[in-house]
Amino acid sequence: MANDSAKDRFSRRGFIGISSAALATVAGGLAVSNAMAQEGQQAGNARTDPSATDPGPTNAPMDAQNPDSAGPPGTDSKSLVPTFKYPFSFANKRTYKGGWSREVTVRELPVSKTMAGVNMRLTAGGVRELHWHTAAEWSIMLYGKARITAIDRDGKSFVADVNKNDLWYFPTGIPHSIQGLGPDGAEFMLVFDDGEFSESETVLLSDSMAHLPREVLSKNFGVPEPALKNLPKQELFIFQAAVPGPLEADQSAAAGARGKSPTDFAFRTMEMQPTKRTKSGDVRIVDSNNFKVSTTVAMAMVTVHPGGMRELHWHPNASEWQYYISGKARMTVVSTGNRARTMDFQAGDVGYVEKTLLHYIENTGDTDLIFLEMFKSSFYQDLSLSQWLTNTPPELVMAHLNIDKATLDAISRDELVIVPR
Ligand code: MN
Ligand code: MN
Repeated sequence: MANDSAKDRFSRRGFIGISSAALATVAGGLAVSNAMAQEGQQAGNARTDPSATDPGPTNAPMDAQNPDSAGPPGTDSKSLVPTFKYPFSFANKRTYKGGWSREVTVRELPVSKTMAGVNMRLTAGGVRELHWHTAAEWSIMLYGKARITAIDRDGKSFVADVNKNDLWYFPTGIPHSIQGLGPDGAEFMLVFDDGEFSESETVLLSDSMAHLPREVLSKNFGVPEPALKNLPKQELFIFQAAVPGPLEADQSAAAGARGKSPTDFAFRTMEMQPTKRTKSGDVRIVDSNNFKVSTTVAMAMVTVHPGGMRELHWHPNASEWQYYISGKARMTVVSTGNRARTMDFQAGDVGYVEKTLLHYIENTGDTDLIFLEMFKSSFYQDLSLSQWLTNTPPELVMAHLNIDKATLDAISRDELVIVPR
């Protein structure tokens, strides 16, 4: 954004209390003065009132990224709603030769009890080693290309190459691997159906071999002990290997005489049409209805154009774990007991909405906002506030809201998902 320069950020600090970059970020370009005026009225001039100035120590760039924390809308409650945001920028990176990983679990974001995320990078040839775990793994490719392998419950092999926006799902206990392909490897987001899950607590091939007596391994495999003398003595986790050859060769070598698995552990997101589209954006819903193997994780991939908003809604069936892929957003979560909080999000942030709580996600930037709504559920489900109000006896709704019939009639009777329609 043009006004997000260091000069602009600091020159007006102290005059209006928070940085002009913060104001520009939340209000967006030309709308800035109008939005300030409106919010000023609602919030008792929270952003411009001398009472709201902040002359002490300040992290100006951080404030600029979080304008709705530094100057919340007047409709937010003053009582605390625990944070529902954690940036991957805060997560500790474990870097290896061949790539890195970092995670956001319930340890980092206490509200996120149902799901955890692991962000991973693999170089071309870099391997996330053969392993399995107690949680189910859902993943989306964010950049580049990788080869994934697994066997199904009947022991039949699965090998596939996944590209940007492709998904994969490995059920609990199913062993698998991921390897970056050329030209520049891959980066992806792994989402686990357990907030307690940690990438450092998985069953690794190397780790397992290092903790079994050699004579046992020799007996188990029917090979002489000396042949096993170079087994790794500690875990590999991520390591550099050569870029694998053609997919078909790997597939047939792994399948052998048993044949390939009939289960497809991968899903090509961009090959499906959007589930819903308006002029303001679209949504693709992928759950066990169209991605059969994904029995514990459901996804909505949402694109909101500038000026648009993911409409007010809630999810009766599950809490929502969010990952922001691009753009800027703000979200208000209306909690129970007269509590509400608004937070700001950008690429790389994790958000969370507890089951059944009302929320919207508004594009506050000047580029497309793309984010994931993830649920620990076999199916996606939401209810729209507009749909509820327009499918209830009108007199009852008007008695609650003090609105006239013409206003109620103007509200969409259908769920739009992204507004304006
Ligand atoms: Mn895994
Ligand atoms: Mn939602």
